Amino acid sequence: MKFIDLSVALDDSPVEPEPARIKYLNHKQGADLLGLAALISGHSVFITLKNLLLHLTGIKKVTHRDFPDGMGLAWETINGDTHTGTHLDAPYHFGPLSEGRPSKTIDEVPLEWCSGNGVVLDFRAKKQGDFITADDLRSALDKIDYKISAGDIVLIMTGADKHWGRKDYFFSHPGLSGDAVLWLLDRGVKIIGTDGYGLDRPFRNMMDDYTRTKDKSFLWPAHFAGRKKEYCHIEKMANLDRIPKSHGFSVMCFPVKIKGASAGWVRPVAILED
Ligand SMILES: [Zn+2]
Repeated sequence: MKFIDLSVALDDSPVEPEPARIKYLNHKQGADLLGLAALISGHSVFITLKNLLLHLTGIKKVTHRDFPDGMGLAWETINGDTHTGTHLDAPYHFGPLSEGRPSKTIDEVPLEWCSGNGVVLDFRAKKQGDFITADDLRSALDKIDYKISAGDIVLIMTGADKHWGRKDYFFSHPGLSGDAVLWLLDRGVKIIGTDGYGLDRPFRNMMDDYTRTKDKSFLWPAHFAGRKKEYCHIEKMANLDRIPKSHGFSVMCFPVKIKGASAGWVRPVAILED
């Protein structure tokens, strides 16, 4: 079996409006912090005055020098939102209700949805800000002679991932229309993925059209389709062009289980059998 990584790394470089802030602790720093465990007694996490005195006088002081090779454990603290990097949007992101019932949060998304047959549709000929319509989906499927089945994971290749790390990434993708999303959902699709910043057109295009027309249907139509019909989508994917065929492979994309959240970080993978 061959695995193709369809994610970008969660990164603290400013490639998106809300980058994650990652504080890295190296093995020496980790050892010094772990050494503070010497201040704790019994089952309490609180430091006793006696232990503090023993620490300050050096009698009970443990530093990195006490650890094998002078090194403890490394770890990181991440401050970032659930939509940073490659992530899966849960129905709750789109609205409090979906199909008239309380929307699923990310911890409630059925795992069965997150594993299925993959199909890649190539929309790299579209320009930034363009709509991808239901007609576009039909002709892309005709071109590869494929019929959508229930449970398929449909991957929208825009080529925008090639702008990852550059300022124009945020604006560089086309987006699905609401009708296009509903057309897929009517065929039993539960997960759609895109290699762009979002499944909808860029913020700038949506806002320009809305302020010009005051027509609310220009605002996040692909996301809000999820209020009518329950589904999830993966945003900020990568490497869809490395999947060697348009269908005949499977995709797995299990999100991090964050209680009550609208999204979770995910590492989608295309799996090809020899
Ligand atoms: Zn999102």
